[in-house]
Amino acid sequence: MMAARHHTLLRGKLHHDEPMARHVSWRVGGPARTFYEPADIDDLVTFLQQLPAEEPLLWLGLGSNMLVRDGGIPGTVIATSGALMDLVEVAALRVRAGAGVACNKVARFCAGLNLVGGEFLAGIPGTMGGALAMNAGAFGGETWPLVRRVETIDRHGLRRWREPGDFQAAYREVHGPAGEWFIAVELQLQAGDGAASLARVKALLERRNQTQPIGLPSCGSVFRNPPGDHAARLIEACGLKGLCRGGACVSTKHANFIINNGDATAADMEALIAQVAETVERVHGIRLHREVHIVGDAVKGGSSS
Ligand SMILES: Cc1cc2nc3c(=O)[nH]c(=O)nc-3n(C[C@H](O)[C@H](O)[C@H](O)COP(=O)(O)OP(=O)(O)OC[C@H]3O[C@@H](n4cnc5c(N)ncnc54)[C@H](O)[C@@H]3O)c2cc1C
Repeated sequence: MMAARHHTLLRGKLHHDEPMARHVSWRVGGPARTFYEPADIDDLVTFLQQLPAEEPLLWLGLGSNMLVRDGGIPGTVIATSGALMDLVEVAALRVRAGAGVACNKVARFCAGLNLVGGEFLAGIPGTMGGALAMNAGAFGGETWPLVRRVETIDRHGLRRWREPGDFQAAYREVHGPAGEWFIAVELQLQAGDGAASLARVKALLERRNQTQPIGLPSCGSVFRNPPGDHAARLIEACGLKGLCRGGACVSTKHANFIINNGDATAADMEALIAQVAETVERVHGIRLHREVHIVGDAVKGGSSS
């Protein structure tokens, strides 16, 4: 247990048994044994330096791509949103953003400086840390092509600047040095008409919002699109729109979204995800791969297979 090891030095907020349903866009999931909201980067370093070596760690942005199982997180969750919030133009055409900054804010900040290339971030309802971890993208833009360098931290609180070459970024998938998490990024942008560019993305977003169940608890697209096709098309062609397991339902508006109708459990979500994947594979012979990350234990104190 973490207990009270030098906790007087910490300036952030430490919670025990914090319901994760409060922190993820699907609004389901059991409690995190320990949940830490650092005050700032120095406080995060202090927290990590005191952390027992065996304590499991999970990094959380805005929880917009995460399914937390009902048994919760048997370890410590670090919440970056609300901390790691710096956002500055560090040099010409270069912006530094902390991992906790909302992507939408970065998009607007860049546009305000007449920098273009990052406006697609307006379509990602997560943090910059989450966008780096997922290689988030929208409207033809993706996170990693903009990255000039990233700052990471390890579980001992050691900070490092790393180059894009240290990471392999693919479609909604990123691999990099083990045991390091993102605390900041420097984005390389281009000069242009920021306002016009952001207005174009906003028009695209409005159109997208007509075809997606925005406003209902979801995690966006559950599955990645297979090469040359769309997961939503494959799911819809199986007649799965509107299919429910408990309080989890395949959206009637967009078949690659699963909605929490209010009383869903994470087990409902996971069962429905599995059923959709199995049906698509049986009908189309295509194995869909999940975009959403599933974390935690199925039952409290259980295993996280
Ligand atoms: C309505 C809706 C629409 C969406 N549309 C899109 C879209 O158009 N394009 C798209 O790409 N995605 C989309 N998403 C999915 C989601 O917003 C993105 O994947 C986003 O990048 C996740 O960011 P987050 O901060 O919420 O991450 P979280 O959900 O909090 O975390 C996601 C993963 O990243 C890891 N992580 C988070 N922060 C860090 C960090 N600092 N360092 C290392 N790892 C970290 C987490 O541990 C987890 O594994 C949508 C989601 C919703 C709800």
